[in-house]
Amino acid sequence: MQAHRVLLIIGGGIAAYKTPDLVRALRKDGFQVRCLLTAAAEQFVSPLSLASVSGDKVYENLFDMTDEAEMGHIQLSRDADIVLVAPATADLIAKMAQGTANDLASTALLATDKPVYIAPAMNVRMWHHAATQRNITQLKSDGITLIGPEKGDMACGEYGLGRMAEPTQIAAAIKASIDMAQNRGGLAGRHILVTAGPTHEPIDPVRYIANRSSGKQGYAIAEALANAGAHVTLISGPTQLSAPRGVNTIAVETAQEMMQAVEASLPADAAIMCAAVADWRVADASEQKIKKEKGVDGATLSLVENPDILAWLCQEAKQRPPLVIGFAAETENVVAHATAKRARKQCDWLIANDVSPNSEVMGGDFNTVHLMTAEGHEDWVRMSKAEVAVALAQRISETLGAQRGS
Ligand code: C5P
Repeated sequence: MQAHRVLLIIGGGIAAYKTPDLVRALRKDGFQVRCLLTAAAEQFVSPLSLASVSGDKVYENLFDMTDEAEMGHIQLSRDADIVLVAPATADLIAKMAQGTANDLASTALLATDKPVYIAPAMNVRMWHHAATQRNITQLKSDGITLIGPEKGDMACGEYGLGRMAEPTQIAAAIKASIDMAQNRGGLAGRHILVTAGPTHEPIDPVRYIANRSSGKQGYAIAEALANAGAHVTLISGPTQLSAPRGVNTIAVETAQEMMQAVEASLPADAAIMCAAVADWRVADASEQKIKKEKGVDGATLSLVENPDILAWLCQEAKQRPPLVIGFAAETENVVAHATAKRARKQCDWLIANDVSPNSEVMGGDFNTVHLMTAEGHEDWVRMSKAEVAVALAQRISETLGAQRGS
């Protein structure tokens, strides 16, 4: 990757103490970083530390004659490829939403013509306040990208949404966006199948067996692949999500319907099987609603095994895609179980995630995944599901590109 230049604008919140780590994480990912501090930020982090870790001058005042002679405030924001505000305090967010320009940070933000990312950090009540939420809506519609905030303990002793995302997560989010921009079109001419969501297995016309899968990760992957230029077929069980733009979405209910839709959608260059397919279905689903019987205590359902779509696609399908990726939701010994599962299913890659009760993965927006391949495994840092999707799309693009080249 060509070194991208980040202008890091540091707001005056307690999370500013994490910014030297952020600078180091960004530099580790190949970025050059130049820091700009608000007056309040200087109370939380020393300009000297930032100068040391960034290897560059740190900018602080709007009316510094030397700075204006060397680098005007307009030039400062234009010289960067990306502007990152971290921590983005409630005050800085409000200024950005208003377009106020009364110090170097807000002036640079108003003068920039580059993509802007913000990592909000504030007290939970400040974050949920109607004024902040109004400002956030405004910033989103202005094209600004949010990284976080996260839920957790706060410096003030409260708990909730408002913690700044961790430095490694912020760096990963920035890198994923750059990768996506560079990868745009990298999957042009490729057909990729994605399955997502749960399946619903009927018991009778009104009842069914289901699971907690939201479909968010699969939908994000379908969208990232489409953004990278692929022709994407998304085969989805029932979810609350709207079909991603530019993706051919096929709605199914049961595992058997999903398998038929996968078979009918072949051939494909790659398949990503994200769906949480029910392992069993009811042997004889009733055509009529099952009634309670007087004097009969309880009821018994007889279950039969559903087809394993992933194993079938890898081992039996006539047109096995050259790259098949499975998912594994595990609650313990994630890497060991996932390694065994990859071998059992015979898929090329397996993405394993920890869905233990306190992981907040099911239905949530973040995910910590491990990529298992024939060569071994990689532990990815905790990222949003959208970032996991972009990173995976990038990997698929590189791999299919290499296959085409070889
Ligand atoms: O065996 P397990 O359900 O943990 O494996 C998960 C992987 O297998 C996922 O990729 C899922 O989409 C796929 N799968 C499938 N058909 C099933 C069960 C799981 O395709 N019946």
